[in-house]
Amino acid sequence: MSIVVVGSVAYDSVETPAGSAPDILGGAATYFSIAARFFAPVSVVAVVGSDFKAESRQVLSSHNIDLRGLEQRPGKTFRWHGRYHEDMNTRDTLSVALNVFEGFRPTLLPDQRRCDYLFLANINPELQASVLDQTQSPRLVAGDTMNKWIAESSAVLKKLLPRIDILTLNDEEARMLSGEHNLVRAGRAILKMGPKTLLVKRGEYGVLQFSSESMFAVPAYPLEEVIDPTGAGDTFAGGFMGFLARNGRVTESTLRTAVVYGSVMASFVVEKFGLDRLLSLSWEEIDNRYRAFIELTDSHHSRWISQ
Ligand code: AMP
Repeated sequence: MSIVVVGSVAYDSVETPAGSAPDILGGAATYFSIAARFFAPVSVVAVVGSDFKAESRQVLSSHNIDLRGLEQRPGKTFRWHGRYHEDMNTRDTLSVALNVFEGFRPTLLPDQRRCDYLFLANINPELQASVLDQTQSPRLVAGDTMNKWIAESSAVLKKLLPRIDILTLNDEEARMLSGEHNLVRAGRAILKMGPKTLLVKRGEYGVLQFSSESMFAVPAYPLEEVIDPTGAGDTFAGGFMGFLARNGRVTESTLRTAVVYGSVMASFVVEKFGLDRLLSLSWEEIDNRYRAFIELTDSHHSRWISQ
């Protein structure tokens, strides 16, 4: 079953303790789709400027991403410049230029309106709502947001939350949205705002999933070297939604497996700058890391049970 994603397609400049990468293809919708396409067909709704390079378009289309909904407008593509601290869980945004995103009014194509799986990546919640308004009863709607919208558009965001099945936030955003410092209390408070499931992304500490009946936690896959954490959250969401779309069922069990696949995909993207690692990734590598992940977290793993 196919997935529609709306969100940023960007040129990022990234500085991390491991080095820097100027003007590389990024954006939340880009990371999401490059990860999700391993599992299900993906269609992007976004806008880029006249400076968007043919080779960037080629990167996406050659990985089977449907770009009919990628508008190109006069002006510049969205740009983001970030710098990570020694502790790569924290970063400073040095600049953001919305550029063509400023006047963006997403319009879905007829087949996109009928999509089963919709991911509202981090953009203005008014635009997220306008995309949702255009769809005809998707089976699953997931969405992301950021501190800026929690601070500046809290009323619009709170109106949107009951319409979202699965909300993804990082720990800082969960605290900000709920007004609770403790993440369990924050999780419970956010579920009361509407989403059926909440995923709290905690960088190298993994992911916490909250639903009305249960709580589920996975670590991040431990890596010897992290080069660039940019896009880890969106890549997680891509693996997560991708798995659900491929599986076709949304149950506590498939949600838990989806969290593991999301974490597996995120563990790859941070190994190189930008999209580089995802672009060279194979199914075999995903499969192997999925198995390594299960073994990492399973205290009754069959490999050790007879000893
Ligand atoms: P993540 O590391 O998962 O938070 O995502 C990083 C990506 O989000 C980068 O590729 C940026 O281009 C994109 N991004 C950063 N700020 C914004 C924003 N205000 N709106 C939309 N996308 C953004």
